[in-house]
Amino acid sequence: MNKLFLREINDSETLRAMEAVDRKFFVPEKLQSHAYSDTALPIGLGQTISQPYIVAYMTASVKAGDCDKILEIGTGSGYQTAILAELAREVYTIEIIPELGIKAKNVLDTLGYKNIRYKTADGYRGWQEMAPFDAIVVTAAIAETPPDLLDQLAENGRMILPLGPEGDTQYLVLIEKKAGQFTYSRKLAVRFVPFTRSKTDNK
Ligand code: SAH
Repeated sequence: MNKLFLREINDSETLRAMEAVDRKFFVPEKLQSHAYSDTALPIGLGQTISQPYIVAYMTASVKAGDCDKILEIGTGSGYQTAILAELAREVYTIEIIPELGIKAKNVLDTLGYKNIRYKTADGYRGWQEMAPFDAIVVTAAIAETPPDLLDQLAENGRMILPLGPEGDTQYLVLIEKKAGQFTYSRKLAVRFVPFTRSKTDNK
């Protein structure tokens, strides 16, 4: 049964999406007994599926249900992608590790999601051709906000990302764009896998 513990999250749209997406499809076979634990779990290649509470928190923070277009950096297992696709009209997701991107696409195709577009790339540059985005969700930790992502945020857009040094405590930071100005608010302490950079795209 899809029973998740989501603490103070009370946004009804987010809760509906969290209920609709069964996390077991995104968790490796041998970890199925932990599928509904409120913890991150390994998905291979040194990466993790995020903790459900954090997925719900990020989804609610960017008001995914109000979005036409969302950009996600770090597809990983595809779990957060599915939650976003339940709520937004279109989701654009970028994964740097091809094997993970392909696997996630297979799962999401099998589950019937038709409003997701996938790209294998270094998400540092965002997805210029599809911008602007009403929301951007980054699921790997980085020391500073990638400037192209700020540029690709729509007016009244919202971005959430884990900011902080690798291996140390990072904070989820919510960035809101109003009248061309960005406001930053520091939220929860978190620990995400590092945002990696492609060697062929290191500008
Ligand atoms: N939301 C995902 C989290 C996966 S972990 C889930 O719940 O499954 C973060 C993912 O970000 C990893 O798969 C990692 O490979 C990817 N990633 C790291 N740096 C990246 C980059 N520069 N561009 C795109 N994806 C990146």
